Amino acid sequence: MYFSFVSGDPALDLTGTVLSRRDEPVDALATPADLERWVAECDELPDRVTADSATFESALSLREAFYRLALDRVLDRHFDPRSLEIVNDTAAGPLPTVELSDAGLRMTGDLPAVLSHIARSGIAVLADPHVCLKECGRTGCTRLYLDRSRGARRTWCGMDECGNRVKAAAYRARRRARPQGQ
Ligand SMILES: [Zn+2]
Repeated sequence: MYFSFVSGDPALDLTGTVLSRRDEPVDALATPADLERWVAECDELPDRVTADSATFESALSLREAFYRLALDRVLDRHFDPRSLEIVNDTAAGPLPTVELSDAGLRMTGDLPAVLSHIARSGIAVLADPHVCLKECGRTGCTRLYLDRSRGARRTWCGMDECGNRVKAAAYRARRRARPQGQ
């Protein structure tokens, strides 16, 4: 399964590793090795980490807690206290090291440090009253993303992921609706 990094924040991208949460959830992080690959593929995180079963469980628990808080934010409700505790506790851990060079930023650290970084990044998103946090407009897609477009008019988590699929489906529907023989 391939990963998408379209949400604009690693904590949100992490929640997006469960697809179609409301209908038939598909979890792209089935094993610790999947998590290692996800971290490696995420541009903002270290190239290499090792996940054992305990840190894998922590990552999944952070993911679900953060998803709950993000959804609370989207639905304009109070944050779930248990999820706040999990995200805040994770954010309090040691952090990765960052170095600047001509090649850009390089981050190094083990998985617990990466999880702290992700939790902090997610906290910054949810604490910012000006961010426009949305759920994808395609029915069935439950991905959350930051809309940074001008006028906040972005509708899909990603064009490849959902936008083009919706447009193609609408095109097929229009063709079907066209009277025969014309
Ligand atoms: Zn989508």
